This record gives sequence, C-alpha cells and structure tokens, in this order.
Amino acid sequence: MNSKFVVRACAGLSLAACTFATQLVAQGPPNAAGSSAAPAANAPMEEKQYDLLLKGGHVIDPKNNVDAVRDVAIKDGKIAKVAVGIPATSAIKTVNVTGLYVTPGLIDMHVHVFWGLTKDDYAGGDWAIMPDGFTLRDGVTTVVDAGSAGWRNFETFKERVIDRSQTRVLAELNIVGAGMGSGQIEQNKEDMDGEKTGEMALKYPGIVVGVKSAHFTGPEWLPYDQAIKAGTIAHIPVMIDYGSRRPERPLDQLLENKLRPGDIYTHMYGGNRGEQDSETGGPGKGMWEGRKRGIYFDVGHGQSSFLFSVAVPLIKAGFIPDSISTDIHTDNLNEGLKDQLTTADKFLAMGLPLKEVIAEMTWHPAVEVQQVQLGHLTEGAIADVAVLNVHHGDYGFVDGAGSVLKGHERIECELTVKDGKFVYDLNGRSAPPWDQPPGPAEKQAKKWTALRIPTGLQRPMNPQQAARAARFPPRWQPYTVDGSGKGTVKAAAKLAPQGAKTAKPDVPPPAATWSKPPADSWPPARK
Ligand SMILES: [Zn+2]
Repeated sequence: MNSKFVVRACAGLSLAACTFATQLVAQGPPNAAGSSAAPAANAPMEEKQYDLLLKGGHVIDPKNNVDAVRDVAIKDGKIAKVAVGIPATSAIKTVNVTGLYVTPGLIDMHVHVFWGLTKDDYAGGDWAIMPDGFTLRDGVTTVVDAGSAGWRNFETFKERVIDRSQTRVLAELNIVGAGMGSGQIEQNKEDMDGEKTGEMALKYPGIVVGVKSAHFTGPEWLPYDQAIKAGTIAHIPVMIDYGSRRPERPLDQLLENKLRPGDIYTHMYGGNRGEQDSETGGPGKGMWEGRKRGIYFDVGHGQSSFLFSVAVPLIKAGFIPDSISTDIHTDNLNEGLKDQLTTADKFLAMGLPLKEVIAEMTWHPAVEVQQVQLGHLTEGAIADVAVLNVHHGDYGFVDGAGSVLKGHERIECELTVKDGKFVYDLNGRSAPPWDQPPGPAEKQAKKWTALRIPTGLQRPMNPQQAARAARFPPRWQPYTVDGSGKGTVKAAAKLAPQGAKTAKPDVPPPAATWSKPPADSWPPARK
C-alpha cells in the first residue's frame, strides 16, 4: 500500500472509514518508507517489542528439551523469545494459554493432497484432500505429500496446490513418473526413472524433500533401486510403502541391505510385509537391524496400514515410531484414522508419554525430511506453533481393522500459528469481544493474525464500494464509544440471562395456501 492508494481509497469515503484507511497505511509494512502518513484519530500506536505473546502455557519443545511453563513471544514471523514472565504489555497481542500445551507447529509427514477432478486418483484426483481443510485445525502447519505426484506432474501439483495452500506443503516424488493412482499406473516399470526423478527433485530443493515408492506388487527390486538412485542424485531420503509381500524381496533385505541410513520405512505397524514376528508378535527380524542402521520408521496410519494387533506388541517390545503421520486421503478420513491428533491419541492410549508423541510430530519428522528449520521453538526459528488442550475422559480409538482401543486422553487443537500469525482459533481466544470496540491490538491485526478481524477494521473500500456504502446508513454497532475510547454495551446488545424466557409475539401461524393442490402436481400433496 502506498500514499497514492490512500488518496484513491479515501475519495468518497466517510471520515471514519478514511481515517481507518490512513491508519492502516500509517502502520504500513515493517520499515516501509513513506509510512509516516497523517496520524490516526486515536492516539498513535505504541511500538511494541513483540507482535504476539502466548502466555502461561506449558511448552513442549523436544529439540530444545523444554518441558515446562514458558511464555512464547513472536516477532516478524519468527520465535523471538521463550522464557518465564515475559510481560503481557510487551506484545501487540497477548493470549493467555494457561492450562494448555504449546508445541512447535505439527508436521504430518505422510499425506495425499494433490487434489483435483480425476476419478479414483491421488495425482490430481478425488482420492486426495485439500490440505487447509484438514491441517490447521489440527495444529498441523507442515505436511509432506508422500508420492502423489511423480516427475511428470509435480509442477502441476506445485502450481495448483503447493503454491496456493496456507499449509506448508512439501513433497516426495513418486518414482513412477505419472505419480500415484488406480489401476496399473504404479506397476508401470517403464515409467520408473531414477534419473528424471532426481533431476526434478534437484530443481525444487526444500520443496521436494524425498522420493516415494508405493503399492508395488511385483517381485522385482527395480522400483526401490530407482527410488534410491533418485534420492542419491538429489541428496534426499526415500520413503518406502513396501507394497505386496513377495518372497523374492524379503523385508529384512530391504532394511538391512538396500535402504540407506536416513531412508524412511512407512506403514510400520501395517503387519503385512514381515514387520511383525509371526511367533512372538514382536518386531520382525529386519526391524531392529534397520533401526540400528539408521532407517527411520514412520506410522503412515492410512486406511488399513495401522493395526493395534501389530502396534501394541511392537511398542511393548520398545519398537516405537520415529514419526507419527496420518497417510490421510478421502477414503480413510472418516474411518479409524480421522486426523493427525486422533492418531497421536492412539499412541498416548498405548502408553507413550506426551513429550515423546509431540517429538514424533515435530522435531523428528523435520529431521527425517532434512528440514531442520522446522519443528522447534528456538529463538529465531520460523514461528509455527500449535496450542493444544489435552482432555481427560473415556474415549475410543479405532484402527485400520475397525477395532477399538479404549483410552483416557484426547488432544484438541485450540490455536494454530503459522509464520507468526494465527491461522486457526477454536474458541476465539485471540478475538476481541463482539460487543466492544476493537482495541489497539486489532488495529494492528495484520501483524499477528491471518484470521478475519472485527468489522470496521477490514481493508479500505475502493471508490465504487465506498460510493455504494455512502448511500446507506452505517451498520448498527452494539456499543457506544466515549471520548476516551471506552465502549459501553447498548441495551439491545445485552443478552438475556441463559434460561430466561424470551417474549414471543402473539402472531397467528400463516394460513395454508395450497392445502388442496391438483392431483398431478409436484411436490405431492401433504397428508
Ligand atoms: Zn500414502
């Protein structure tokens, strides 16, 4: 915004609206030149040390080994300070999060979000979900798409989804050039080109963070060899969904010989490919060896890739996940899986401590996909934050076989901050009361929230909108404001106490106008 814009925007605006337009410009972007426009009608806004302060929460930041009550201050999209007793007055907006957990923004490192119109398809099709509808409300600020696109259609995915989502979307390229879909697409050995996949990955460092092989039914090692070739070219890990169990390519050999340290084995509690020892129920032969070699093990819950009959004995034997992820897509999100936090709840119900569960959704996945700028609350780090409530009660959690495990904790996301701004707020903790005039924090809302800000504080109108608005009286406000800026609730805005009888006007019900419709009419006559 520049001063020319204000002149245009103010033409035909009411004084109040114009004052607001000018205020917005006066705040300007940080350090903007020429931002010293006419002062606002109210007192000039005080320069605060921080944009946002989350006060009084219990911080769990596994990377920094913090597990204690701390305040978290954010400035310009970065974590500015994590400490005890940061004054509430030091931030434009302070939100009290006492009694809640404050963690780094969660990372779901196995999702399918290359959504589109193709039928029965993960690559631009209706099996994939739109990320923002399923992430921010769960505290998830970053997802890794696990191979929905291959090198042939990755750029379409980037243009259509990655660049247009509020969620940070990273991707693993499918070793199949055409990506992931129904039918024979993923069995097409001709389309598994490690070199082309590696080259595409090199073109988008920091966005393409891995290579994926999935759902292969054949006896050959070819998909895995080509995936590793691509990963080696681009210096990124491969993630393996090991497809059908084949005696020609035993799991032990994949984990002990083929995969490189740092590669990722997903669907670790699927139980279909030898993850579980058929005698003891504990981890299969290759699992410990793989872990010793530095292979990472990821949950990838999916539709049927997570079973309590596998997870419980493996976890009892000490084989816990490196990362907890959903493998969310349209076929599983209303089944046992549901979402990231429900997946986390299952691990609490199986006895993992909350701190470990948080580590598996923050710092661990960041390390696995080599994006170590994410997943922690170090001062100077990207300010992605989840504020979580842990409810206690009697809950049931359903696995990929449709079986239930009872548990006593359910995590709910209260607030999500991405890049230093609120992007989700379940209970309006960051919002001002509806019947009071917006305070100074709301006037600088662009600095601390991406959510809608109270009426009267949205962007200035263009001249056409302003001319139209001028023809109508201003919108009724539920408060009056005195000279000092203090708001008083108008009588009409005062709610009756809950349970009080609201007077109902004595108006007779309308007479039926078509009690006898013609016999052939539609809709059919009411009885
Ligand atoms: Zn998947």
